This record gives sequence, structure tokens and C-alpha cells, in this order.
Amino acid sequence: MLDLWFTEKWSENTRFSIKVKEHLYSEETPFQKIDFFTSNEYGRFFTLDGMIMITEKDEFIYHEMITHVPMCTNLNIKRVLVIGGGDGGTVRELTRYSTIEKIDMVEIDERVVRLSQKFLPFTADKLEDKRVTLYYQDGLKFVEDCPSEMYDLILVDSTDPISVGEGLFTTEFYKNCYRVLKNDGILVNQHESPYYERYSQEMKKAHNKIKKIFPIAKVYQFHQPTYASGHWLFGFASKKYNPTLDCKIEEWNKLNIQTRYYNTDIQRATFALPNYVKTQLEEK
Ligand code: SAM
Repeated sequence: MLDLWFTEKWSENTRFSIKVKEHLYSEETPFQKIDFFTSNEYGRFFTLDGMIMITEKDEFIYHEMITHVPMCTNLNIKRVLVIGGGDGGTVRELTRYSTIEKIDMVEIDERVVRLSQKFLPFTADKLEDKRVTLYYQDGLKFVEDCPSEMYDLILVDSTDPISVGEGLFTTEFYKNCYRVLKNDGILVNQHESPYYERYSQEMKKAHNKIKKIFPIAKVYQFHQPTYASGHWLFGFASKKYNPTLDCKIEEWNKLNIQTRYYNTDIQRATFALPNYVKTQLEEK
């Protein structure tokens, strides 16, 4: 029996590989190539155009960090827009708040949702929650057409700024996010990684654009073993609330939401960045 390995290129000179037990499914959609695998180390995982999106073993880190950091900042969030997120993990975390009334998810590729429901029930099982409405279209166009001040929170759970995900890293998109957020609204979005240059260039570009639009623009970090370098970032932009000063630590803890990565010590600590990251973020 030949060993089967999935390998992703992290930089010109580095690769990350997972030993595959079985290649479960492959499909080419009009938007991207979707593959599902299973492995001993990471359980089930899926890739888009050869890049790991989520694995069963570490997806909780990404999905808890994209959701609970803004939710602890403002516990009155009622209307949420998720852009991308077709595997359903972000929606799953949001549905843990009984106070959220409406979750709109805009995913460009319906096949990601349908196939995740089949192969990744551990992330996709809350997409049927009655508060969730699914839209299959480009998130860039959705926010362009959206009336102003519709949402309390926007979570951009997107692919990297290549191919279909590119529009979600533009000034035009960020300006529309600002417009469709209420006057205390929060935007959290993919900020790539500070470590390898190919990703850190995108992190700098995204931060520079967002800080020109939102009065509060910060970056927070977390440890994601299967993303390039394992050191990954989200951007936090807000019209009013500061995530470290305005967060509701006691109230959040009273909700008794059981998490495996996020906790309220992390709420503040996650915004403390290493010096080399701070330096990069200050560069134009
Ligand atoms: N957590 C992953 C990561 O950072 O690698 C991303 C999750 S994956 C589910 C991201 C989703 O964003 C994909 O399903 C993709 O189809 C969707 N997507 C990419 N560009 C989009 C766009 N312009 N509008 C809406 N969804 C988009």
C-alpha cells in the first residue's frame, strides 16, 4: 500500500503535509475545487483549491475566536451577517447565543454548504437553525445592495484574497461593511498570518485599508495548527466598542457557554501582539 499525503504549500520553501486515510470526495464547481479527506491525526478535513479550510481536530479554535471575541465585546448583538463560512462552523458558534435573533449567511458556492452538510456534520449541523437564512451569492455584491445599518455584527469567514475571495479584501467592501453596520457595529475578518511574507503582505494591506474607515481597528491572534505557520490573525473593526476596554467579562461568563479555546482571559490577551507583528502593522 502506498502512503497518501495531502500537502499544502506554505511558502516557496515550506510545505505542510497530513497523512491521508481516505480521499472521500472531489468536485470542481464554477468557483473552486472542493476536496474532502479523512486522516488519523486531524480527522475529517476539507480543502478549496488545495488549501486547508478546516479540520475536525482544530476547527474549534478558528470558529470560537471569530465569534466569541466580538460577542463578549457587545452582548446586545441581535442581527449578524456571516460572509463565506460555508462549512457552518461560525454559524454553529453564533447559535449558542439565545440573544441573537437573526443570522444571514452569504456563501458564494452552494456546493460548499451542501457537501459540508454531508461530510462535516460537526460544523454544519446548525445551518438549519430557524434564525439562519442562507444566501448563495457574492458577499461583495450582497453588502453593496444591502440597506444601511442592518447588522450589529459582520463576520467575514472567507478564503484567502485570491480568486473568489479577493473582493472581500477591498476598500470598497470594507466601506460597505461600515455602512451596513449599526452605529455600534463590529466587523471581524480574516487577516491571514504575520509569518510568511506571502500572507503578511495581505495582513498589512487589509489593516491599512480598514483603519482608514473604522475609528477602532485592531488585530488579534490565535494559534491554528493547520494554517500557514500556525500563527493566524483576525481583524477587529468597530464604530464604538473597544474589545479590551468595553468587553463584558462577568456577563459573558454567566452565559456558561462551554468553549475549548476561547475564555475571557484570552479576550484581552489576544490583542497583545508580538513586536514584529506590531512593526509590520505600522508599515504602509
Ligand atoms: N476558515 C477558512 C479559512 O480561513 O481557511 C475559511 C472557511 S471557507 C468555508 C470560506 C468560504 O468563503 C468558502 O466556502 C468560499 O466559497 C467562501 N467565499 C469566498 N469568497 C466569497 C465571496 N466573495 N462571497 C461569499 N463567499 C465567499
